[in-house]
Amino acid sequence: MDFTTFSQIFASAAAKNGILSPNEVQMQQFYRFTEHLLEVNAHTNLTAIREPVGIIEKHYIDSLLAMDYFPEGARVLDLGCGPGFPSIPLAIMRPDLKITALDSTAKKIDFVQKSAEILQLSNLNAISGRAEDLKLRKTLGKFDIVTSRAVARLNVLCELCLPYLKTGGSLIALKGAKFEEELTDATNAIKILGGETTKTEQKELITAKNQAETRGIIEIQLKKEPPAQYPRAYAAILKKPL
Ligand code: SAH
Repeated sequence: MDFTTFSQIFASAAAKNGILSPNEVQMQQFYRFTEHLLEVNAHTNLTAIREPVGIIEKHYIDSLLAMDYFPEGARVLDLGCGPGFPSIPLAIMRPDLKITALDSTAKKIDFVQKSAEILQLSNLNAISGRAEDLKLRKTLGKFDIVTSRAVARLNVLCELCLPYLKTGGSLIALKGAKFEEELTDATNAIKILGGETTKTEQKELITAKNQAETRGIIEIQLKKEPPAQYPRAYAAILKKPL
């Protein structure tokens, strides 16, 4: 797909979904990233979506649905970023944010790091590791915002994410159609960890074929520091989820 066609499809998808369209430089970055993603994905499995229109809709637009939730200049952690979602679209569109992308799979982090170099994204840093790993303890309590897409059910996600927030900071969880059910199931986890749900919003992701897919954005603010035992080892989290 050439750059002009790519730009037109992206601008139209952004307009349909009420998202600010990328400027010329940002559009070039998205185009270059798409090329790189497809190139690497041909031999290393990073995403099941293998064509530009799907990537624009399901990865870029979807990642940007909550863009307005991020305060100016925030220090952001994308927990379980995979090949860079939502971190890379956010880093392109919001140069003011200072983003750390974390994933347990080293090959995905290598890809995100390399992409940040190619796109000259100085606001994005990628680290490999498990969120609950002891080696990351020093990073707990350091972020204004933690965001996460497609990593775990909300009760488990809260245990992984909330300890990374400063008091007063927020988790912005990007969820699917069943977000309200997940929220109900996470009531206990949110309470134990010192959080409070401050906003939920249902969004419809509109595709080029005018189909709507339901998404849910959940914002949980950390009101007080979580007890020091969290996050527990992953086996313990799964055995006895909060
Ligand atoms: N956020 C991306 C990837 C979702 S797949 C997207 O929306 O496309 C889930 C990712 O979370 C995987 O890449 C997996 O390696 C990572 N992950 C799962 N549990 C994790 C943990 N405890 N710590 C860090 N990364 C984790």
